[in-house]
Amino acid sequence: MEKFISVFDMFKISVGPSSSHTLGPWLAAKKCIQKLEQAFGLDKIISIQVLLYGSLAKTGKGHGTDMAVMMGLMGEDPISTNTDLIAEKIASIKTNKSILVNNKLNIPFIVEQDMLFLRDQLLPHHPNALQFLVQIGSKQYTYTYYSIGGGFIEEQNEAGDISSSITDNHNVKDLEVPFQFNNSDELLHWCIKTGLPICEIVKENEKTIREEIQVAPALEHIWEIMLACIYKGCHTEGELPGGLFVQRRAFALNKKLLNGATYTNMNEWMAAIQSTGKSFSNILDWVSCFALAVNEQNASFGRVVTAPTNGAAGVVPAVLLYAILFSENNNKEIVSNFLLTASAIGILFKNGATISAAMGGCQAEIGVSSAMAAAALTELLGGNQKQTLMAAEIAMEHHLGLTCDPVGGLVQIPCIERNTMGAIKAITAAQLALQSKPDFALVSLDKVIKTMWNTALDMSVKYKETAEGGLAIQIPIGLAEC
Ligand code: SF4
Repeated sequence: MEKFISVFDMFKISVGPSSSHTLGPWLAAKKCIQKLEQAFGLDKIISIQVLLYGSLAKTGKGHGTDMAVMMGLMGEDPISTNTDLIAEKIASIKTNKSILVNNKLNIPFIVEQDMLFLRDQLLPHHPNALQFLVQIGSKQYTYTYYSIGGGFIEEQNEAGDISSSITDNHNVKDLEVPFQFNNSDELLHWCIKTGLPICEIVKENEKTIREEIQVAPALEHIWEIMLACIYKGCHTEGELPGGLFVQRRAFALNKKLLNGATYTNMNEWMAAIQSTGKSFSNILDWVSCFALAVNEQNASFGRVVTAPTNGAAGVVPAVLLYAILFSENNNKEIVSNFLLTASAIGILFKNGATISAAMGGCQAEIGVSSAMAAAALTELLGGNQKQTLMAAEIAMEHHLGLTCDPVGGLVQIPCIERNTMGAIKAITAAQLALQSKPDFALVSLDKVIKTMWNTALDMSVKYKETAEGGLAIQIPIGLAEC
């Protein structure tokens, strides 16, 4: 049996700005508290100290890792927590020098002493490591977690064994599914054998863990959150937090493109967008606007959906909304099919390479998201299975080597604009694939996944979410406090 990753593991409801540095540590802290409660009872906890290693230490302040860990220790759920109250809750911990563990037990917690950013230390398994040192009576226990990208976490036990990736949706676990695939050749094999499109192959596998009737509504719910994020981003103006003084742009762009059109709700807003026409420049501006909106929300600790990560959360929604508003298609299940196919591509990259920028740079985030969106769009527009895989290959091929060099350690520059590039490249890749004969292509998706991984291995650590190279050092701003 092989590891099974669900579409709902690729698209997780999250809080910005980072899936590896915010969502993962948040879930790790929450898991740790659950384990402590089961093993000892919360009332036995005397103190908790948090150690952040590697990339989590280097860019954790800008990425909100400290905030996320504290929210997790409080037992808050990233899916349901009121994001408008996060700043208040963190301020209260700092002022009172105490934290309400799992919203039940108050213990002393002085952030400067109990949340340590160990910038020069690494744990060997993964650059995003965190440990919880917990005092229970006279004994200290150590809980070690790794945030391996996209909100997936792994746990290390006292013997040093690493667990499978765990998420809040379900454990990524050994599961027999009807169409097991570890690479694109295997996925294509099932498509050819069954005649099913990729979205249907993924749906059949999904039925192993939930009723078929639940899949489409659950994906519609994911889309509602993505769409709400775009809408909120297009209707929020001002400056992003973190100290870089970055101005939001989606608000002004939305207003300019609508040219005075009025609306009172989301449906009217979408109709107004459609009425602006299908000129190339108009569509280009709207796709950019959608992507900017998501990632401005992400940068301001808003609610987003990993796709496959938070930093790249704007690409898939921007391309899906483009498909809904501007493309010619009569597909009734546009949302669920799009997300199912996109998830298949994300799974291929997660299994064959990485979706963690700390392991592979931005090619692992924006590159993967662009490949996911390109494939999903191609299938939606009538491409066959080979063209669908080809679109993913094209999109990644032109993100190979992309570094992660966030200015000030914040997920703002170049991240926000980079989502617009990923979205536009995805559309170009889909169009190219639709006009091509994949049997004549020299580069397969599996070859480009392998190349991405080899490039990740060759890439200097300076370009792996450490803010120690690239743009991050051309614009010499101290790592921002959040
Ligand atoms: S540069 Fe890319 S990988 Fe790095 S934080 Fe920004 S979006 Fe994520």
